[in-house]
Amino acid sequence: MAEQTAGLDTRSSEVIYARAVGLLPGGVNSPVRAMRSIGRTHPIFVERADGFELIDADGNRYIDWVCSWGPLILGHADPEVVEAVREAAARGTSYGAPTEGEVELAQQVCDRFASVDMVRMVNSGTEAAMSAIRLARAVTGREQLVKFAGAYHGHVDGLLADAGSGLATQGMPASPGVPRAQAAATIVVPWNDPDAVAAALTEHEVAAILAEPVPANMGVVPPADGFLERLRELATADGALLVLDEVITGFRVARGGAQERYGVEADLTIMGKVLGGGLPAAAYGGSRELMDHVAPAGDVYQAGTLAGNPLAVAAGLATLAKLDPSAYERLGALTDRLAAGLAAAAGEHPVSVVAVPGLVTPFFADEPPPDFARSAASDLAAHGHFCRELLDRGIYPPASQFEAWFVSLAHDEAAIDRTCEAAADAFAAAFA
Ligand SMILES: *Cc1c(COP(=O)(O)O)cnc(C)c1O
Repeated sequence: MAEQTAGLDTRSSEVIYARAVGLLPGGVNSPVRAMRSIGRTHPIFVERADGFELIDADGNRYIDWVCSWGPLILGHADPEVVEAVREAAARGTSYGAPTEGEVELAQQVCDRFASVDMVRMVNSGTEAAMSAIRLARAVTGREQLVKFAGAYHGHVDGLLADAGSGLATQGMPASPGVPRAQAAATIVVPWNDPDAVAAALTEHEVAAILAEPVPANMGVVPPADGFLERLRELATADGALLVLDEVITGFRVARGGAQERYGVEADLTIMGKVLGGGLPAAAYGGSRELMDHVAPAGDVYQAGTLAGNPLAVAAGLATLAKLDPSAYERLGALTDRLAAGLAAAAGEHPVSVVAVPGLVTPFFADEPPPDFARSAASDLAAHGHFCRELLDRGIYPPASQFEAWFVSLAHDEAAIDRTCEAAADAFAAAFA
């Protein structure tokens, strides 16, 4: 464990953490928050946030490039989102009965995704992935899944399988507690390797090819030219479903997600993050023919006490309402400025900055990685050092090489330029 960096007074965070570790595993409710992978001894406890700024328990202010890991495309505490949630809360926080807002949100989603006629709302991306898989297995009558090494689809048992790269391999559990049979039903193949996908489809009875269309959980690793189109062809020819996990890319890389940006249509789409505007909401959707199998229209059972929660629906609607074409133009321009600024700040150091609209990863590697094996070969120690140096300078980066920097519409040119100035010093320190 590296020494705590100087220059940032985080005594309150340390005190809260000392209490937290006795009450929450690792002191947190989701592992990456602990910041262990960048060599910190304790996380930074947040007190409040506004726009692009995060304010911690000690009063330190940071330019936030995590934005709750994706949901906050408008930044923190957007006035219209806050007002929508306030109004909804005053009308009751949950009914266990349908509301018109859910119908409107479903309409908004279907208007954006050409491949989606109907959706079912759930509370998390994990739940959406789990449910979409059940549906895919039900309609195909097959059980195996193909997923990509380094792709994350939530902590669903069968998807916590990662056999590493190489040819199609039977998945091995990546966590204790995952049944071998569950992991073995998942075939793990390298991203951007169409031959491995084709081989897996030939050798196994595959219900679905599951993919992040722009993987952002191995750092940002865009699809090679034609790769998504190839997945579409392979799935169709085989009779497997193409399930695209747009939990990060949906409503972010384009109005209609990666499917619009790359011109490929999924059979089933998994959504979350931006969809709930910072409150817990997620969904899966597809053609009417497929979705009509879901209960109570059909016999594929899936349910949720808080599904389509009125506060989350209000936040989602308020968020989507602001995402017009000019918002995506602006998000793209901000992303380009951040990516170019980070690349300039890195100078001659071995750093490759990869960006798609709304997402950036500075890989501590000579070249942009095409897959997880290469992404994982990045200089993680230097990356961790870089992140600690940024925090000392009031910049809050994602505390992992395998996560994206999330650009929001609350960020502005000045915040980006301040970030890149700090990054120049942080790169110098990390490579010293
Ligand atoms: C975050 C994420 C999930 C899981 O969503 P949760 O709401 O955290 O359960 C699934 N897929 C992708 C691509 C994600 O980034």
